[in-house]
Amino acid sequence: MISHLNILRIDLTTQSFERDTASGDLTRSLIGGRGLGAFFLRDHAGPRVDPISGDVPVVLATGPLTGAMIPSGDRFSLSTISPLTGTVMDTNSGGRLGRALKRGGVDVLIMNGRFDVPGIVVVQDGSVTFEGAGDLWGGTVPETVLRLVEKFGKDAGLAVIGPAGENGVRYASIMSERMRAMGRGGAGAVMGARNMKALVVKGTGKVPVHDRDRLKRVLEESNRWLRAHPVTSKALPALGTPMLVRICARAGIFPVRNFQTVAVGEDQAYSGEDLASRFTVGSAGCTGCTIQCGRVTEAAGSRGEGPEYESLWALGPDLGIEDLEHIIPAAHLCNELGMDTISAGATLACAMELAEDGLRPSKLRFGDDRAVYNALSDIAYRRGEGDELAEGSRTVAQNAGAPQYAMQVKGMELPGYDPRGAQGQGLAYATSNRGGCHLRGGYLIAREILGIPKKVSGSMVLGKGGHVARAQDFGAVADSLSVCRFATFAVAPEYWSRMVNAVTGLQVGGEELIRSGERIVTLERILNQKMGIGPDRDILPPRFTQEPLTEGACAGEVVHLRELLGEYYAHRDWPGGVPSAGKRKELGLDEYTG
Ligand code: SF4
Repeated sequence: MISHLNILRIDLTTQSFERDTASGDLTRSLIGGRGLGAFFLRDHAGPRVDPISGDVPVVLATGPLTGAMIPSGDRFSLSTISPLTGTVMDTNSGGRLGRALKRGGVDVLIMNGRFDVPGIVVVQDGSVTFEGAGDLWGGTVPETVLRLVEKFGKDAGLAVIGPAGENGVRYASIMSERMRAMGRGGAGAVMGARNMKALVVKGTGKVPVHDRDRLKRVLEESNRWLRAHPVTSKALPALGTPMLVRICARAGIFPVRNFQTVAVGEDQAYSGEDLASRFTVGSAGCTGCTIQCGRVTEAAGSRGEGPEYESLWALGPDLGIEDLEHIIPAAHLCNELGMDTISAGATLACAMELAEDGLRPSKLRFGDDRAVYNALSDIAYRRGEGDELAEGSRTVAQNAGAPQYAMQVKGMELPGYDPRGAQGQGLAYATSNRGGCHLRGGYLIAREILGIPKKVSGSMVLGKGGHVARAQDFGAVADSLSVCRFATFAVAPEYWSRMVNAVTGLQVGGEELIRSGERIVTLERILNQKMGIGPDRDILPPRFTQEPLTEGACAGEVVHLRELLGEYYAHRDWPGGVPSAGKRKELGLDEYTG
């Protein structure tokens, strides 16, 4: 049984640290990772919160499975308030950092304050030192990682920012090692505002496991599921997430040119198959993962990891660019500058449509790959037009007097699935707690397009409220256990609960885990409301509710958001979009939120 959680609190302003503990009961109610992140942010959510002040904590939280050698289960979460959306947000990543924290005896790391001059934080077995960043400040992600690995060794867990984070780009990412991204929501800008270039974590201890034999047995079974599932055993290892290009094009939901239309036909030259045969030179992935969905690619003299499906789409067809030779270097550049590919691409797409319609002066035009490449650097260094683009599509479109041109929800740019052909995905975008996100929304594409865990028609409206809620709750569980979403395609909740029990000594079932997921999603919802982001923000860009698709398999469709939301709120017992008093009590949330 978990008696307590070990917390390490760091104050960057005073360059001091202290150890603390929290009740182990939190693992049962909020699991870990994303759940604990929301818990430790609860006292800081308020109407006038400034995400880039030193007053909002940055919470790094491991899950109960982190470091226990669970396949695809070595992840960790970073939670704060998003400078892009103003919502509570979490972002998670693979890499060595989570395992290193756990090996150093730290379950949760909480950072407050701000360095006077750029610095780095080094955590070694739960003890902290502070160093000046020196000329690391200003460096790209690969340059910084190379220098840190030379100094601290290959086993160190790293979280670093690039120029985008230093310069306050509202969708700057934090990179975990060279190419694992904490991508969405602008956590890189939060770190940059604190003058913090890097976090280095080393840990040499052992991660305690309650019952190794039980763990071995459940892992053998889970690995069989991972090896048997066609997505985790074949498609992802062979093609990575770009396996989705042809599938989404066939389904009529692959957006192009700022969602003005969708790709027609599936023989696109930018498919995962083309990426694999012409540009992929190796595979890569997170520490301890057997799926290894990452690609190492080379094009036009640029070598690096990615692009993932979303990056390929956002920096390619959504900008009218269809040649992988040009898409790949742009995706690598975003990683090097430390910038979310989805928001960067979608902001450029918004600017291009505004420019083509004469609403915003700019040289950016759909299909101009050279202009895109240059604009990405301009954004990261806030040069010229890049200074405004660094604020995100919502601001760019509002400044032009045409907010409807921004394909965003709550300020977060949407990923590459047109919701007009996937009604559940539309509801997921509208209700995702960190803004327009496929993953936090519940990744309904898995059900509506891939048929995981079972096929649900994309055009169907009735019943989607329950599907979205269930998928969001299970997603919150995965993020809080700190396991990869892709592993949950093959391994059902019951197996994850058995792993938790074997590692921690708790006795929880699969449905209890899902219940914890509901608690986490509802807690985030309540925190957002405290910050003024309520049900009136559960909306979609009018393009999706008022302009039917004109091409592809879903021609004629719009999103029926009103019906979807009504069913979803009823299912969740959130009358009018606000969690009822009964639901809060039932989930035990009053004690966390007052
Ligand atoms: S499947 Fe991909 S993203 Fe998930 S843990 Fe493995 S390498 Fe990382």
